[in-house]
Formats: sequence, structure tokens, C-alpha cells
Amino acid sequence: MAKTAQILYRLQSVDLELADLNNRLREAESLLGESTELKAARLALQKVSSKHEAVQAQLRSLELDLKTVNARIASTAERLYGGQVSNPKELASLEQDLTNSKNAASALESRILESMEQLDSTGQDATAAQNGLQDAEQACQVLQARAHDQIDRLREQITALTERRGTLAGTVQSSELAVYEQLRRSKGGRAVAILEGVMCQGCRMTIPSGKAQLVRQSDQIVTCMNCGRILTPQP
Ligand SMILES: [Zn+2]
Repeated sequence: MAKTAQILYRLQSVDLELADLNNRLREAESLLGESTELKAARLALQKVSSKHEAVQAQLRSLELDLKTVNARIASTAERLYGGQVSNPKELASLEQDLTNSKNAASALESRILESMEQLDSTGQDATAAQNGLQDAEQACQVLQARAHDQIDRLREQITALTERRGTLAGTVQSSELAVYEQLRRSKGGRAVAILEGVMCQGCRMTIPSGKAQLVRQSDQIVTCMNCGRILTPQP
């Protein structure tokens, strides 16, 4: 029959493995939800889309202005060449007005051209950002599926190991288990150390040979005088 310290050592191995599995579970769970890349891709699309929309709005407004100016050109030309106005001063003023309107129209036309070029460029940016978002969504879905699989596997392992822990813990007295639990908390999960010869593997200090003999021969719990860990013979 295994000694109590040996059982506690096995219990410690199970507990360490459980701690590792729980860490991996937390890590896998942290991967659930939207990835940083996906959030960034969505933000990038929002930015270029709003820029594209702003350029579209600007183009519409310029086109509207041009329409107004062209209407003014038409009405001024009609008055100027229609023969109804004969006053030279008024004619000169109409002519000036026509020239000004034509200049304004020409300036608007070049701004419209610029806007159209800009719209073309922001449109391409928006398409690229849309594709980027799709890629990020797909990549995120793959990651999510992988994380879900991993979480399922880890949970199964944790359940099985927790069961095994229960069985092992059931074979030691509750007072001994309490000593183990308390040491486990204060010693970073390592409550039990192997005694190699007369050396505690927990702290690398030697213990008196009489005490070492007790570790090997008796079933009582013997702790290291230096680090306080429960000593167990080589498993
Ligand atoms: Zn020690």
C-alpha cells in the first residue's frame, strides 16, 4: 500500500495538472468573442466609408451649385442677347455678370472633376476595407471554432481529473489533507517534496538521516525542517 506522503505527492501532480488545465481554459475562453483584428477591420471600414460618403455629399453639393450657376448663365445670356435690354450700363453689367458666372462654372467644373477622382479613390479604399473586414470575419470564425473545440476538450479533461482527485483525496485522512491544502497555498502549489537520499528536492537542503529513515519507513507525515514541505520517498 502506498504511503500517505506518496498519495499526497500524486495528489499534488493532479492539482498541478488541474491548475495548468484551468489556466489553458481561461486562455481559450479569452479568445471567445471578436478578435482585435476584427474590431480594427470594422473601424477601418467605418473610417473609409464615412470619408467616401463625405466626398459623395461634397460632389452632390458641387453639382447642385453648378446647376444653379448654369441656370444663371442661361437667364443672363437670354437677357443680354434677347434684345429687351438696351441700356449700355445695364448691358455692361449683364456682360460682367455672365463672365463672372462662366468663371464660377468653370471653377466648379474643375472641383467636380477633382471630387470625382477623389470619389473613385475613396471607393477603392472602401472596397478594400470591406474585403479586409470579410477576411477578418472569416479568420475570427475559424479562431472561434478552434477555441470552442479546445474549451470542450479542456472541460472534459478537467472533469475527469477532478474525479480522479476526489478518489485520491478520499484515501487520505482529512487532517493530513488539511496539512497538504494549507502547504499547497503557501508553497505555490508544491506542498510535497521528494526526498533524495537525505536531500529535500523542494529546497535542496539536507535533513538528519534519522528523519530521512522515518520518511522511508513510517507512514506518518514528516516535513522538511527548512522549507516545511511534506517529504516523500522516490515514487
Ligand atoms: Zn525542504
